[in-house]
Amino acid sequence: MKVLTLRKRAVVIVLCVLLCVAGVVVYFTAIAPAFRPVAVHTIVIDAGHGGKDGGAVGKQSEVTESYLNLEYALTLRNICESYGYKVVLTRSDMNGLYSPTASNKKRSEMEKRRQIICDSNADLVVSIHMNSFPSSEARGAQVYYAEGSASGESLAGSVQTSLHKNVEYAKLTAKAGDFYVLNCTENPAILVECGFLSNPEEEIMLQDADYMQNFCYQLFCGILTYFNYE
Ligand SMILES: [Zn+2]
Repeated sequence: MKVLTLRKRAVVIVLCVLLCVAGVVVYFTAIAPAFRPVAVHTIVIDAGHGGKDGGAVGKQSEVTESYLNLEYALTLRNICESYGYKVVLTRSDMNGLYSPTASNKKRSEMEKRRQIICDSNADLVVSIHMNSFPSSEARGAQVYYAEGSASGESLAGSVQTSLHKNVEYAKLTAKAGDFYVLNCTENPAILVECGFLSNPEEEIMLQDADYMQNFCYQLFCGILTYFNYE
């Protein structure tokens, strides 16, 4: 009798162990994946212009757009990487992306940007630019997305909202824009005009290190919001 009871106990223990193992297997194959962290996101950061193409120029300081674009791209890169994101830059110095022997340097440059974006397999693309307008009154950051791109519009909306709330004069709503760098990819892509070099006050602000750091951090927060709600 006592032996039988021990056998029964042993059977019960074995059954319990089997149930536990089965439970763990079911959890990790069926339930757990939903709670696992998503794969590392890759972000392409595209500093507009470069080389012979300096873009817009500030009248007072003679700062070039291509220089500031790179500064903002590198600052944003550092923030993204510090949060564990993988970053691919289209350019990391002042050289142009065009082939030196190309007859049409603009076409060569845009083709190179498209190539880097396509090869990166990125989750999203952020192109950095500085604006300019005949009237010196115009100011404020504006985010653009490709017309008809729902994911681009969603990303642009998140970034524009974050900038509007935390950076003075940033516009309220994102706009559709016809830019090659947005149209050349199926991935969500935005072009951020950080501010106007044609506005004397903004020309100075855009070059301030603290302003730049905060701007890029708010841009990054908009990206985070997009990733959380996509
Ligand atoms: Zn530009």
